[in-house]
Amino acid sequence: MIIYKNREEIELIRESALLVSRTLGMLAAEVKPGVTTLQLDRLAETFIRDHGGEPGFLGLYDFPNTLCTSVNARVVHGIPNDEPLKEGDVVSIDCGVKMNGFYGDHAYTFAVGEVSEEVKKLLEVTKKSLYLGIEQMHTGNRIGDISHAIQSYTEAHGYGVVRELVGHGLGRSMHEKPEVPNYGRKGSGKRIKEGLVLAIEPMINLGTRHVQQLDDGWTIITRDRKVSAHFEHDVAVVDGKPEILSTFDFIEEALGIKEKN
Ligand code: MG
Ligand code: MG
Repeated sequence: MIIYKNREEIELIRESALLVSRTLGMLAAEVKPGVTTLQLDRLAETFIRDHGGEPGFLGLYDFPNTLCTSVNARVVHGIPNDEPLKEGDVVSIDCGVKMNGFYGDHAYTFAVGEVSEEVKKLLEVTKKSLYLGIEQMHTGNRIGDISHAIQSYTEAHGYGVVRELVGHGLGRSMHEKPEVPNYGRKGSGKRIKEGLVLAIEPMINLGTRHVQQLDDGWTIITRDRKVSAHFEHDVAVVDGKPEILSTFDFIEEALGIKEKN
């Protein structure tokens, strides 16, 4: 069952989403060679609690940390550890917050120092595909229109679209109906209605779309060990149109990059 939200509920989700945005913005200044993902995790947990939220992932399905940190070939659900990041790595940081009974959930893939042109392009295309998907989230469309927009744009660049993990509804639970695959046919799936709130999150691989899970029971990694990227926003349908509740502005201010979406 899809739980549609009223304006008040959407505002509460926005507050949680924006605390995630500010957390990612704080982390943006810390992601550099030599730092460990466990250090980032501790900073994030303190920051979230200091701002009146609770880490949304910690303990959820028994996940052990505040952040999912997925380095290079790791797609999502990476567990923070004490291995230092290196120049040329990428790290996808996914973060959740629970506040006032509602979740926020979004993610950004950071370059650690200078990365190759090939990887830079992957990050750019994956982020762009997120916005192309969001554009389709209006009344009159269906979930498959979001999926198709993401798949067609990223596959046109020769990338692999992960099938095993999908976006989702968001609210009082981190994962609600409907599922939002990053692949699919135009005009298929559930209708998009007023008050729908989704976490849209393309997971796009430089090489094969195929992934596997590591023995830690969490980490998803590309089968060919090529780099993967992950960008996620929380979006509500308001007045028939998509309204992005989260923002990358704090991150991109910290990184000194101006974005044209
Ligand atoms: Mg997420
Ligand atoms: Mg999510």
